[in-house]
Amino acid sequence: MKTSINSKKYICSDCNKTFQTETNHFGAHFGNCPHCKSNCAKVCVEKEAIEMRRIQHENFPIIKTKLVAFSVGSNYEYSEYKKQYMVKGIKEMEGIGGANVPVQTFVTGEIWLETNCLFDNQWNISDQSPTNANKRCFDWNGDINPRNNSNRIPHGHYLVITDEMREIRSNVKKCGYCGKHHYDSKVFCDSCLGSEYLTENQIHLLRLLPVAESDSKRVKLTDNEKAELLPLYVELQTSAKYEKHVKNHEKRVKDNNDKYNNAIEKAEIEFKGFKWLLDNNINTDNCIYYSHTKVFCFGWRSAMSEMVKKELKIKCKDFPYVIEFDKEKG
Ligand SMILES: [Zn+2]
Ligand SMILES: [Zn+2]
Repeated sequence: MKTSINSKKYICSDCNKTFQTETNHFGAHFGNCPHCKSNCAKVCVEKEAIEMRRIQHENFPIIKTKLVAFSVGSNYEYSEYKKQYMVKGIKEMEGIGGANVPVQTFVTGEIWLETNCLFDNQWNISDQSPTNANKRCFDWNGDINPRNNSNRIPHGHYLVITDEMREIRSNVKKCGYCGKHHYDSKVFCDSCLGSEYLTENQIHLLRLLPVAESDSKRVKLTDNEKAELLPLYVELQTSAKYEKHVKNHEKRVKDNNDKYNNAIEKAEIEFKGFKWLLDNNINTDNCIYYSHTKVFCFGWRSAMSEMVKKELKIKCKDFPYVIEFDKEKG
């Protein structure tokens, strides 16, 4: 939900401290935490944001599972540990901690996962979760040479992968171009075919793949698919059909009319104003028309004396538009 830009309260899940920041939405904030510098996703704690998340949970129910945080004595032990607990087919996220890399510290316990935005290797943890609230966790994450940790003990976390988690990642499909999630049986994304940035040889990226494999290479269009999609692409690139395009279109029609009417009005005032002055034999050498204010200004080249101004006022008393003298009102 977009709002006007103003200060909102956010919480940092790494240090649990709150801070104010300027945003135009109630979603996650990725700027560095002013307290601990972490760039983790910060959750908005304004009451509108909490209500927004409550409604979101009605449409995208949370999934409950368990997170296991571990640390082991050596890299050898780490690899043995991984063999034991790493689930087949899960994408791992392994890192070598740099001194400046913020460490997200996790604790073992039940966690609640958000399902409104899905990834193939990680999850957003709900702000309602009994443990590790508001953090983003990986299916498997290991830091094998942590520099923030004086003992350099390899550590990490993993999730207990449930059928529900597998199911949602295979049922929900993702577009390889715009990233939109689709919950039906469409084969191609229908949201971005009219995008002004989409080129003809990128259309195959719209092929929907389950979230679990959404980063996989998308195969090129078959001849049948081309026959179906290309005419639609051309139609959407050339006509205002999408809701967004229709809305823009209506606005552009109005803007175009306004621009025209405004220009005509300004030009008409300029023409009729000077015509009146010339027809009435007024000296216009020291007169300029300011189209942005629709004002005729006398004395713009050099200031006029009070007597000259007074006489001009008398001569122009029937002038139909606004006259100013040296930026003073006439
Ligand atoms: Zn912080
Ligand atoms: Zn798309």
